[in-house]
Formats: sequence, C-alpha cells, structure tokens
Amino acid sequence: MAITREGKICSFCATPGGPGTDVLLVGGLGAQVCSTCVDDFHATIHDEEAMAHTRTFPWERMSDAEVLAVLPQIMASAEQNQAFAREWVDLLRDRKVSWAEIGRTLGVSRQAAWERFARKTGDNGATA
Ligand SMILES: [Zn+2]
Repeated sequence: MAITREGKICSFCATPGGPGTDVLLVGGLGAQVCSTCVDDFHATIHDEEAMAHTRTFPWERMSDAEVLAVLPQIMASAEQNQAFAREWVDLLRDRKVSWAEIGRTLGVSRQAAWERFARKTGDNGATA
C-alpha cells in the first residue's frame, strides 16, 4: 500500500495537484500545500506591510457569499485529512500493527478503532 499525492488538493487554496497535474504539492500529516501558496506565504512573511494584514483574519474582511464559497473547500480539505488517517491506518495494518495498539494510541478500544477504520479500508481482520 502506497500513500501518494495523487488526487490530493492544496489544503490552503483547494487547487487539485500532485501526479498528473502541473501543480506541485508538498506537505505531511494530511495537509498539502501547493507551490503557489508556498510562494505567496513566503512573500507575505518577508513583507512587513503584508504581515500587518495578517494580524486580522481574512474572513473578517469577507462577505457572507465569500465565506459560503470557501465552505466546500474546507470540507474537501477535512475529507482529505480523514482519508489520510485511513491511509495511515492501512500502513500500520500492512505492518501488522494490531487494532489494539492502534486503539491504544488513539485512546479508544480496539473495537472502536476497528469500527472507525476497518470497514472503510476493507480490513476485516478484527481479531488482530
Ligand atoms: Zn495552494
């Protein structure tokens, strides 16, 4: 099982990227960032005037329609993070890490870990 960036989006602007696209993505722990956002953030962090604008959150200057338009992007990013957690559990299961250990790490029972992740991954090995 391989974890890839295929089909992923930038967690900051929701632009689809990764293999098969012209958008480079980097990141980890489920969050991805595109090269455009990296460049924009880099420029902002080194520009005193631009940094002054970051003292307030952008949504404070957005209309209701603009805030609504961002909601699907937030949901797509959240779904991407959930998918990454499932991929990570798949990786652990491929390494023969038990459901008990996964549950203990998450602070839940073995059964709760299995119910949350196994049915979505096709792993029916509830006995491990
Ligand atoms: Zn981006």
